[in-house]
Amino acid sequence: MSEQATGERVAFKAEIKQLLDILARSLYSSREIFLRELISNASDALDKLRFESTRGAEIKDADAPYEITVGFDKDARTITITDTGVGMTKEELISQVGTIAKSGAAEFVKRVEAENGDASSVIGKFGVGFYSVFMVADEAEIVSRSFKPDAKTARWVSDGEGEYEVFELDEDRPRGTTVTLKLKEDAEEFADKERLSGAIKKHSNFISFPIKVEDEHVNTVGALWREPKSSVTSEQYSEFYKFLTYDGDDPLETAHVSVDAPIQFKALLFIPKREYDIFGLNRDDYGLDLYVRRVLIQRQNKELLPEYLAFVKGVVDSEDLPLNISRETLQENVVFNKIAQNVTTHVLKTLEKLAKDDEKKFAEFWREHGRVFKLGYTDYPNREKYAKLLRFNSSKAKDKTELVSLADYVSRMKEDQKEIYYFVGPSREAIDVDPRVEMFKRKDVEVLYLYDPIDELALSSLRTFEEKELKSADQADPAEIEKMPDANDEETTKAEPLSDDDELHFSSLVEKIKKTLGDRVEDVKVSKRLTGSPSCLVNPEGGMSGSMQKILRAANKGMATPKKIFEINKDHALTRNLLAIYKKNENDEFLTETIEQLFDAAQLLEGDLDDPHALVTRLNKTLEKSSGWYKSITEG
Ligand code: ADP
Ligand code: MG
Repeated sequence: MSEQATGERVAFKAEIKQLLDILARSLYSSREIFLRELISNASDALDKLRFESTRGAEIKDADAPYEITVGFDKDARTITITDTGVGMTKEELISQVGTIAKSGAAEFVKRVEAENGDASSVIGKFGVGFYSVFMVADEAEIVSRSFKPDAKTARWVSDGEGEYEVFELDEDRPRGTTVTLKLKEDAEEFADKERLSGAIKKHSNFISFPIKVEDEHVNTVGALWREPKSSVTSEQYSEFYKFLTYDGDDPLETAHVSVDAPIQFKALLFIPKREYDIFGLNRDDYGLDLYVRRVLIQRQNKELLPEYLAFVKGVVDSEDLPLNISRETLQENVVFNKIAQNVTTHVLKTLEKLAKDDEKKFAEFWREHGRVFKLGYTDYPNREKYAKLLRFNSSKAKDKTELVSLADYVSRMKEDQKEIYYFVGPSREAIDVDPRVEMFKRKDVEVLYLYDPIDELALSSLRTFEEKELKSADQADPAEIEKMPDANDEETTKAEPLSDDDELHFSSLVEKIKKTLGDRVEDVKVSKRLTGSPSCLVNPEGGMSGSMQKILRAANKGMATPKKIFEINKDHALTRNLLAIYKKNENDEFLTETIEQLFDAAQLLEGDLDDPHALVTRLNKTLEKSSGWYKSITEG
C-alpha cells in the first residue's frame, strides 16, 4: 500500500496509554472477547449503514450484501475482520478510533480496578472496545472506505505502544472496513477456524447480520424477539440477555411481549439481578434498543420507559413506525408514544405477576431496584399499579428486612380504622421507641416504617390507597386511635386518676408550660397518644409531617421550622412529680429547667434541635444533682 504525503503520526493521550497498559496485562483467559468487540463494531457499522439507507442517503456499492467476514492466515499469524458497513474516512479514524469520547478510558480504568483487573466484563461499556485487540495483537491495522460516494480510502495502524499513524490511500476499495491483526506469538491459537467459530458462537450468536468464517455462516440466531414465544427456550433468553447487557448473570425476570392491536410491536424485556448504578457512574447506560422492522433505529432509547423503570433492559421492535423516522422526532410520534405507554404497562404487569407468583423473587427485585422504582410516584396515569408494588417495613413485620405491601396493610386494618399510618425514622430500632408511635402499639394498629425519605414523598404524593388516606403517625388524630380496642385485654396498669382539685392544678401547670415555652410552640396539650414517654412534639393536622419538613429544609437552607404542638403525658410519673413541685411553688427553678429539658429532648427526637449545648449543660447539671441525692441515699 502506498503511503501518502497526508500521513500523520499521532501520539495517544495519556489515558489511552494507561488503558493499553491494563489490556496488555489483562487476564489471559478472557482474551477472546477482542473478537466480540470487533464483531460488534462491525455490526454497529452495518446498523448505521441500514439507517442511512432508510433515510435515503446515497451509498457506495449499494448492492453489496450486509455481512461480516472473518478470515485468517495461520502461516502469517494474522486474522482479518471485514464488514460492509458505513466505514470511516481518515478524519473519522482520528476522531472515533484515535480519540476516546466521554472520558471513557478513565472510567474504564477505574472499573477494571474495581473488578480486580478483569477487563473483559466491562470493556464493551466504555467506548474503548476496539483497543481490546492489543490483548492478542502486536499490531493492528484498519483499512476503511466510507459509504459516502466520494470519500477516500483511509488506513490506521498502531502497535499499541505510544502512537498510531493515519493515511489516506490512493486506491479505492469496496465500502466498509477491514481490521487486520498481527497476532502475538502466544495468541496464534486464534488463527484457526474452529477457535474463531467457537468464540463467535459463544459471544456473537445474536448479531443480526451474517458472520462468515471461510464462507461458513456461523451465527444462527437473529432477532430472538421476533420468534414465537413457544419456540424460545429459557437458555436462549438468558444467552440473549447476556449478549445484550454484558451481564455475566442470568436475568432475574424475562418478559417476551407481542402486541398486535391497536399498534403492533414486539419486545423482549429483562430485569437484571443486579442494579446497574443507573444514576451513578454510568449514567447513560440505560434505555431499550428500538428497532423498526428489524432495523436498529436507536440503541438505548430513553423514552420508551419512564426513568423509574430504567433498570429494565431489552429490545422493542415495531412494524408501525416509519423506517425513516429520525431519533429527534421520535418523541412527537403518536405511535411511538403509544408503544412507550404499552411497554411501561407491560413492565408493571410483569412486576405485579412476579409479586403474586413469587414473593421471594419479588423481594430480591425490591432490594436491588426498589430505590429507583420508588421514584415512580410521579407517574400519575399508573399510580394504582405503582402503589400496589411499593414495599415497606412495618411494625407488624417480624424483623427489619421483612417487606409489607399497602395491600397487606389494608388487609390487617382494624375494624374502625380509616387511615393508613406510616412513620419515618432512621432505623427500626429508632421508630420502635419513638413516643409518637406509642399509641399505635397500645392499640395494636400497624404502622409502616419508612427508612428512606423517598418513601414518604411517594406516599404523600399518592395521598390514598384503596380510598384510605395515607397519614404520617405524627399527624394522626389520637381520638381516632383511642376509639379502637386496647391490644392486650389485661388491664395495663393505669395511673391513678387525679383528684378534681389536682385536675385544676394540672390545667394551670399546662398554662405554666405554655408560658415558659412561649411562641416556640403552637400550643401545649395534654396528650392522648403517649404511654411510656413524658412528652413529645406533634405536627398540627393538615400541616406537613416532621420528616417532610426535614427534606424541605435540607433543600432550602433558610427555611424556618413550622411551630409544633407540645404534648404532655398526664399519667407519666415525671409529670406527676412536676405537678407536686408546682403545687408547692409554681416558680420553682427546677420546674422551669425540666420543662426546657423536656422540650429540647422532644425537639431532638423531631430533628429540630439545631444546637444541643443548652440541653447537654442542663442534663449535666441535673445529673450532678441527682447523683448527689443518690449518693446520700446509698450512704444511708
Ligand atoms: P464503541 O464501539 O463503544 O464506540 P470502540 O472502541 O469499539 O467503542 O469503537 C470506537 C469507534 O470506532 C466506534 O464508535 C465507531 O465509530 C468506530 N468504529 C470502530 N470499528 C468500526 C467499524 N468496523 N466500522 C465503522 N466504524 C468503526
Ligand atoms: Mg465497540
